Amino acid sequence: MTLNVFTVVVLFASALSLAAEFRVGFASADITPPVGWRRAGNYTELISTGVNDPLMTKAMVVQDGGTTFAFVGNDLCSVPRDLTDLARLQASKVTGIPVGNIVITATHTHGGPEYLGPLRQFLHQRALKANNGIDPHEPIDYRRQLIERWAAVIAVAWSNRQPASLEVVIPRLEGVAFNRRYWMKDGSVGWIPRKGDTNIFRSAGPVDTDFPFLLARRAGSTEGLGSLAVFAMHTAVYGGPAFGADFPGHLQTNLTAAFGPKFVSIFGEGCAGDVNHLNPFDPDPQHWTNVSPAIGRAMAQVALTNLPYASAVKPGLFAVRSAVVMAPVTPISYKEINAAKKVMETLDQNGAAFLVVVDAWRKIFQKQFWERHDGRLPQEVQVVRFDADTALVTLPHEIFTELGIAIKAASPFRRTMVVSLANDLDFYIPTRRAFEEGNYEPTTCPLEPGCGERLVAAAVKLLQELKP
Ligand SMILES: [Zn+2]
Repeated sequence: MTLNVFTVVVLFASALSLAAEFRVGFASADITPPVGWRRAGNYTELISTGVNDPLMTKAMVVQDGGTTFAFVGNDLCSVPRDLTDLARLQASKVTGIPVGNIVITATHTHGGPEYLGPLRQFLHQRALKANNGIDPHEPIDYRRQLIERWAAVIAVAWSNRQPASLEVVIPRLEGVAFNRRYWMKDGSVGWIPRKGDTNIFRSAGPVDTDFPFLLARRAGSTEGLGSLAVFAMHTAVYGGPAFGADFPGHLQTNLTAAFGPKFVSIFGEGCAGDVNHLNPFDPDPQHWTNVSPAIGRAMAQVALTNLPYASAVKPGLFAVRSAVVMAPVTPISYKEINAAKKVMETLDQNGAAFLVVVDAWRKIFQKQFWERHDGRLPQEVQVVRFDADTALVTLPHEIFTELGIAIKAASPFRRTMVVSLANDLDFYIPTRRAFEEGNYEPTTCPLEPGCGERLVAAAVKLLQELKP
């Protein structure tokens, strides 16, 4: 009798594992705005002059049994909640994928368009006033177009699903990323010091050299369908006046050369809030025209040379879970808001120092968050369990690297990938210590200190709940 029950259980388990397989689909679409649209990545007005490389939205849909998940990467500096909410809802209606199982992220390319936030709002309103209600830099409803393209790219990736194998490898990518905050010899914390600055004492934070690479292949074949690569470094190398996708665009080009023209390479920026490519100890000028392609090439090379060591992701345990953290927004007075509005007005008249402009930009967000969310900003944390050893965490905003490392260190999964700039805006989430140290990133953050540590705790809790 006991033997019979045992046999039945074993047979049932093997039937389940036979049925379990991944079905994976990819899709991409062009989201380059008309040339002449404002360029992002600065606190001044920049006008695009052309297209260095097309800006793309790319989706990967993964299904295993009854669970489906969609990851969307965008060649944009950031994505705002009001648009991602609508696109996720629309995509969910078409595909049946639950809204919580859809994530829309930005690569954080600074070569994308300026289409959201206090700076765009100010420049757009000023243009409307000056041109009888027409902003010559915004000839189309780009925000509506984005919602439609995101929903459509998810739907196409969903309908492209096919039996596929997934494999993952996390090699290291050394020598390209640097913590951009430094303890200076005068006791201050410096931000992106000049090359050769003799006042630099040492880096004020770590870098994370993990380079997770998740590859999907057609089932029973070596043919690559698409990939998700993650690295914790600012996508802020590109510096041309035309629209540009920066190194994720070059990663796509290099992987296309290896896997064929239909291959879709998605890049997710890791926790890179305080990390960029600039090395102040290197006298080389590090011009973007060389550095951006070199990083994309290095990423592809590291991924491809390490694929022989990749682990197969085992189907059968695929699951998605999310949580919402309510982050206290720093209080603000009307007097402060009015002063901030005045600063924005003198923006391009060299009227205000950089950190004064950043401070004003943040105060306008603070006001919006108090008005819209009554002082508590909802922040969504999503966790995907690919298998017993592999998990993906997505977080909103620009997270300090130390916080991403803390999630990985506490994660019960051997392989944990963390992607930032998910579903919401690009202000920084510093560590508590960095709030005390000050300078650029903490000046951008409308939330109370402790916001980063709370996101870490929420992510780790979900990871622990999902660990089989
Ligand atoms: Zn940034």
